[in-house]
Amino acid sequence: MNNFLISVVIPCYNEAENIPVLLNRLKSALEGYCYEIILVNDGSTDPTQQVIEAESMENTKVSYLCFSRNFGHQAALKAGIDHVKGDCIITIDADLQKPPEAIPEMIVLWLEGNDIVTAVSQNEGQPSGFKRWTSTVYYRVLSWLADHQIVQNGADFRLMDRKVADIIRKLQSRNLYLRGIFSWVGYKQALTFYKEERRHAGTTKYSLINMLDLASNGITSLSIKPLRFALAVGLFFAFLAFSYGLYAIVIVFLGRTVIGWASVVASIVFLSGVQLIVLGVIGEYIGKIYREVTQRPTYLVSKTNISNPSRNRKANKLTLDVKERRSAMT
Ligand code: UDP
Ligand code: MG
Repeated sequence: MNNFLISVVIPCYNEAENIPVLLNRLKSALEGYCYEIILVNDGSTDPTQQVIEAESMENTKVSYLCFSRNFGHQAALKAGIDHVKGDCIITIDADLQKPPEAIPEMIVLWLEGNDIVTAVSQNEGQPSGFKRWTSTVYYRVLSWLADHQIVQNGADFRLMDRKVADIIRKLQSRNLYLRGIFSWVGYKQALTFYKEERRHAGTTKYSLINMLDLASNGITSLSIKPLRFALAVGLFFAFLAFSYGLYAIVIVFLGRTVIGWASVVASIVFLSGVQLIVLGVIGEYIGKIYREVTQRPTYLVSKTNISNPSRNRKANKLTLDVKERRSAMT
């Protein structure tokens, strides 16, 4: 048995049918390791909570946090990370699209000294080419806006060292976009690849609106470049208007009359559109500031079987350094 503890965090939103299968596969994948599993029930309306409680009665390694309502995937991940005790923490979805069998390889990469190991899907099992294409474009734009590389297809199947989890724990932002945060923190990072499987049961919990919300949150929480871009657009049109004003004065002196009602209306409509877009961008950021100043917690836990989590964390020893991790390997 190794002398380190692995924590697995699983966000669950209406995943009752998937949880027992996932736990079985995790049990085999983690055989020989010392581990704990934290299931975060993100306000499910199906029997997820009953299934979780039954599993935790049977297996003392399984604990749970039950939210008072649906707070979203990112909040569920944050809650799990807030409550773990492990030396390394792995986040994995409940739907078995990401195979637990990839975890031992991630642990090896961690033991070799990597602090964040992101598992990247090789696109197998992704249904539509359109989703893949939009995702490529999105991650390129996001990496450019954020000034650091965001891993494409690194969809929250990840291992992080305890010290990275400690940083995430301290983040109080209400607009968490963890995929971006993991590239923002830096540290030694590695990638591992897995074949994406089909969802075991149920359907995706991410509607198009949720995806757009996550995408917009990703951009606005990592970068203020859109605001600068809005300013540049404003300056460009101000310059055009100024030049046109000069031109209008000159042609009055030259005695030529200006005709063209349609062009005037078209330019007014166009500029009003630009102004509204710019206002919308500014509004997005003001909305974020509003959420931050209200200081509401990211999630509310209504039920848990974790007793005094902060004391548990302190009781566990501090981060293993690279040397200790290497010696744990041998
Ligand atoms: N999830 C969650 N809260 C939500 C939506 C999703 O905890 O509001 C969980 C869900 O149960 C799953 C993971 O997040 O374990 C990923 O969701 P899903 O598989 O539906 O997303 P997709 O793989 O389709 O992008
Ligand atoms: Mg999924």
